[in-house]
Amino acid sequence: MVIEIMKWNVYGKIGVVSALVIGGTIAGTSVFAKEKISQAEIEKFEMMANVDALMRRQKASFAGFEEFKKTIYKEPWEYGVYIVNGDTPISTDIELLDYFNGEIKADWKSTKFGVQLDSRIDKLTADAPDGYIVAWDNAKKRNLTYCVSTTFGSLHDSVVDAVKEATGAWEKASDVKFIYRPEFDSACTNQTYSVVFDVRPVDVNREYLARAFFPRYNRLQRSVLIDKSSFDLEPGNLTLTGILRHEFGHVLSFRHEHTRPEAGACFEDDRHIPLGDYDPFSVMHYPQCNGLGDWSLDLTKKDKKGAACIYGPGPETDAETSCS
Ligand SMILES: [Zn+2]
Repeated sequence: MVIEIMKWNVYGKIGVVSALVIGGTIAGTSVFAKEKISQAEIEKFEMMANVDALMRRQKASFAGFEEFKKTIYKEPWEYGVYIVNGDTPISTDIELLDYFNGEIKADWKSTKFGVQLDSRIDKLTADAPDGYIVAWDNAKKRNLTYCVSTTFGSLHDSVVDAVKEATGAWEKASDVKFIYRPEFDSACTNQTYSVVFDVRPVDVNREYLARAFFPRYNRLQRSVLIDKSSFDLEPGNLTLTGILRHEFGHVLSFRHEHTRPEAGACFEDDRHIPLGDYDPFSVMHYPQCNGLGDWSLDLTKKDKKGAACIYGPGPETDAETSCS
C-alpha cells in the first residue's frame, strides 16, 4: 500500500526535497541548511526531476528490491515511514516491496518518460489501492479532530492558523469538518488517541516540506508532519498554508493529479480513481509536473467538485462546484 503524502521535491544537488509526512519529535536537530528554497531553485531543477526519477526507476528495476530500498528515504524514528513520490508515505517493508513490484518494475515496463502507455484510466483523483475509493465515512468526515504540537514553539500559533485556513478551504467545498482540540497540544503525538491525527514539526533536512496520510492509515501513521524548511520559504506564492491545502487533500484521500496520464510527467501509479476531468491547475498537481497552476496551491473548481463528489456539498458549493 502506498501512503500518499505531499511531496515537493527539488532534485539535483539539493536532493529530494519534498513530501509531507508523519513524524514524531525529530531526533537530533542540527544540519538544517540555512539556504532558502527559492522559486528559482524549483524552476531550475524541475526539468531534472523527471529525468532523475526515470533513471532511478530504470536502475531500480534492474538492481532489485534490496538495492531499490537503499535509495528510498526512510524517516529515522519509531514508526517512521518510507517516502516515495515526494510526499507519499509507505509504512512497511512489505508494502514497499509491493510498491516496488507493482509500481516501479511494472511502471518501467509500461511507461515511457512518465506517460503510461496502456492506461486503464483516462481521466480530483482519489486514493483507491484496491480498486475502490477509501475515504472517511459519514461520521468521521465531520469529526476530523486534531492537535497541533506545542513543540512548534514560537511558530505554534502561526501553524494553527495555517492549518485552520487550509482545512477551511476543504470545509467550504465539501461536507467535512476538521475540529481543533488544543487541550491535547502539549502531548500531541502519533499516539494521542483522543484525536484523529496530530500535526507536528520534523527536521528531515528537506526530504520533504510536509507530509500527511490517507484515510486508510492507522493512528500511528496519521500525522501531518511539517519540515523546518517550510518555515524558511522565500517570499512568494509558496506558503505554508498552500502546502497544507495540498496535504489536507491527501488527508481527504486525494492523490496527486499529475499521476494521471494527461500530465505527461511524474506518473506515480494507477491505484486511483478519477473524480472528474484532468485538471492541470489542481491543488494536488505539482507545478513542476507540467502543471499549469502556480505555487499558491489554491483549490480549483474541479478540486471543489471532486471533494463534493466524495463527501457531499459544502456551505459554499454552487452550481459550478457541485457534484453532477
Ligand atoms: Zn502530495
